[in-house]
Amino acid sequence: MGSEIPQVHMFFFPFMAHGHMIPTVDMAKLFATRGVMTTIVTTPHNASFFTKTIKRSKESGIDIGIKTLKFPTVEAGLPEGCENADLIPTSQDESSDMVRKFFMATFMLQEPLEQLLQECKPDCLVADMFFPWATDAANKFGIPRLVFHGTSFFSLCASECIRLYEPHKKVQSDSEPFVVPNLPGDIKLTKKQLPDYVKQDAETDFTKMVKASKESELRSYGVVVNSFYELEDTYADCYRNIFGRKAWHIGPVSLCNRATEDKAERGKKSAIDEHECLKWLDSKEPNSVVYICFGSMANFTSAQLKEIAMALEASEQQFIWVVRKQKNNEEEEDWLPEGFEKRMEGKGLIIRGWAPQVLILDHEAVGGFVTHCGWNSTLEGVSAGVPMVTWPVFAEQFYNEKLVTQVLKIGVGVGAQQWVRTVGDFVKREAIEKAVKEIMKSDRAEEMRNRTKALAEAAKRAIAKGGSSYSDLNALIEELSLHRH
Ligand code: UDP
Repeated sequence: MGSEIPQVHMFFFPFMAHGHMIPTVDMAKLFATRGVMTTIVTTPHNASFFTKTIKRSKESGIDIGIKTLKFPTVEAGLPEGCENADLIPTSQDESSDMVRKFFMATFMLQEPLEQLLQECKPDCLVADMFFPWATDAANKFGIPRLVFHGTSFFSLCASECIRLYEPHKKVQSDSEPFVVPNLPGDIKLTKKQLPDYVKQDAETDFTKMVKASKESELRSYGVVVNSFYELEDTYADCYRNIFGRKAWHIGPVSLCNRATEDKAERGKKSAIDEHECLKWLDSKEPNSVVYICFGSMANFTSAQLKEIAMALEASEQQFIWVVRKQKNNEEEEDWLPEGFEKRMEGKGLIIRGWAPQVLILDHEAVGGFVTHCGWNSTLEGVSAGVPMVTWPVFAEQFYNEKLVTQVLKIGVGVGAQQWVRTVGDFVKREAIEKAVKEIMKSDRAEEMRNRTKALAEAAKRAIAKGGSSYSDLNALIEELSLHRH
């Protein structure tokens, strides 16, 4: 940007979950590379996840600031240190209460955030959809608030159509498919696949929060979307023209990570050394490895993990499988079939904990991705040109599945039928094996791979100079710089 334009200062305030923080850090980097002054606001524990990334950026001349706010865990009745959604206790009896308390704690951040806004007077606040109070907070200081949902245009449109027309209230049973009214593409869903908070009649703290989030979005300055126009043009148009949202698409933001270290270190520290991982992949033929990972929140049961193990073995495909369960010293892992790791030696790699996902997906040996359809993972799969087995678990993942399988035709569904928060629907091994084989070596696999590769090329063009996302990002920065006067 020309030096005659005063530098715009943007605040980024992500929800405390990796699926929200990771793209926010990328976003901040992206804006910073265009000359915007950027500051990420988060809590101390969460800041620790990206201090290294920020340090590396700084060394390459891209400065990103961090401001921390104390997370009121104790005040909200949460265990100490519970500052990220993936640390919320998952035991059945206390989980929903803990989720409620976690959101309560985020609501307590309004006042400290306002103090920070007053102090720093940024020109814009990009705040997560889960902070419905952020529009009012920004308004108090005349600062435009942008909403970041962290999902696709497709999902934004689908959830809006369901909210407005309530098609799930007109079916006879939970499993009777209905067409999502006014959503292009003749998309069918069932009530079972909808989030709990959509189908619940009774008002809860969470449904109130979702409602407040929608209201605050409608009063906000606009929406930033991590997507690119060529991927979902129909839905980008629908969101803007039919639903009247002012939106900027600036993705895929993960593509701002070019160096190995940047790709390897997003979110948490990887449980595997990136060089070891690359060495393993380097020894494999192109498109011969399937990568299985369900994001940062999904928590499958031991029985489901065992089913996946058996399916992978039966599929006879090489794999990298990310399992969130940690090994407890010498304790037996009840989810591993006997002798599994020995039999799979050289053929399959299990990563317990956090994987360098983008690094893995971008490797030419990877030819398929079994994903829970979290939007970041989905878009990272697209950007890497890898066809997908879709296995939605909760959140808006069942919508993203439809985009992948029905609209883009770059993946096959594993057959998950039921939205279950973090645990997911149980899927049998035969279905998993079949879906894996279909994306790795069926006649359709080649077609899907070609389509995904073409989208990956389009993604790169979108973020390159003159591309659709590049231009939209510029347009947003220009608008914000005019707005500040
Ligand atoms: N991720 C990763 N390593 C892992 C698991 C997840 O790097 O072992 C990253 C992944 O690349 C993505 C994010 O974490 O950027 C997960 O976001 P997504 O929207 O896919 O799912 P969520 O975690 O929100 O369910």
